[in-house]
Amino acid sequence: MTSPKNGQKIVGLAPNREHSFYGRDIVSVKQFSKQDLGYIFTVADEMRGIVKRVGATDLLKGYVLANLFYEPSTRTSSSFIAAMQRLGGSVIPIHGVQYSSVSKGESLPDTIRTLECYADVIVLRHPEMGASEIAARYATKPIISAGDGIGEHPTQGLLDLYTIYSELGTIDGLHVAMVGDLRNGRTVHSLARLLRMYDVSLTFVAPEILRLPDDVKGELTEAGRPVREMGRVEDAIEEADVLYVTRVQKERFADLRDYEAVKGCYEITPELMSRAKQRMALMHPLPRVGEIRYDVDDDPRAAYFRQMENGMYIRMALLAAVLGKA
Ligand code: ASP
Repeated sequence: MTSPKNGQKIVGLAPNREHSFYGRDIVSVKQFSKQDLGYIFTVADEMRGIVKRVGATDLLKGYVLANLFYEPSTRTSSSFIAAMQRLGGSVIPIHGVQYSSVSKGESLPDTIRTLECYADVIVLRHPEMGASEIAARYATKPIISAGDGIGEHPTQGLLDLYTIYSELGTIDGLHVAMVGDLRNGRTVHSLARLLRMYDVSLTFVAPEILRLPDDVKGELTEAGRPVREMGRVEDAIEEADVLYVTRVQKERFADLRDYEAVKGCYEITPELMSRAKQRMALMHPLPRVGEIRYDVDDDPRAAYFRQMENGMYIRMALLAAVLGKA
């Protein structure tokens, strides 16, 4: 079996070579068309059906995933593991790179070239923006980014868009407000880039120093999506169909005094939710560190736990797709 990536072999059971996802890397949401998104969401729906009905399938039996995390993770890492296991495949988990040869000074390309000797697909989280593109350049097997620094988090973007669609039944026509650390929040960058393909109104709520980066803003404006920016969530909540809240990314601040100045700048409370639409979705990529009060969790509009479950179905769909089995 020949991978379309560079003519090298992909080990495994006969894949569907016809499908455009076969052998592809997933490093940015910019690579997806609306048609691609429709396809991924349909497969994710099927994956949800399989899990609900029978728990697992042997679609990826014999395939191996290397899960390589240079930064902390709970949801992304464990949902990729669960996704691979529910598809009948197995996982090489590398979560504490301090215990791997990375701590001996091994370069990212060499680590990638090592893991692809053993695995059919590599999931990579790395603190540097652009690291997944570099890994993809060296790898002959598909690389799936699980977040690269303050760059992008493409699989989170996909599961966020899928959640909006599952919660509200549409994307076109919605008013989406994104709140918090829009500068450093890679999930914001991926979701905003996906939303620019739809007929949506976008509001960005952040303190001055955490505003959306100029490149993302430019892409939105170019796509005909005006960028409305404000500082107070109270001014955005009433018209929002989706309120996408994020944490201030402490680990990205060079000077912790800057972090201290903006941490805790937003808190979604039941009182604030009483001003929101009856039908809306409150989302958060998680972890939360105070942005959404625990007594909001029982509100039917609080979608963040459903959102994280959706992550597993999206990741099942992506793994099956890049291995030619969807
Ligand atoms: N879990 C998400 C990420 O890895 C969001 C966050 O950490 O705040 O980007």
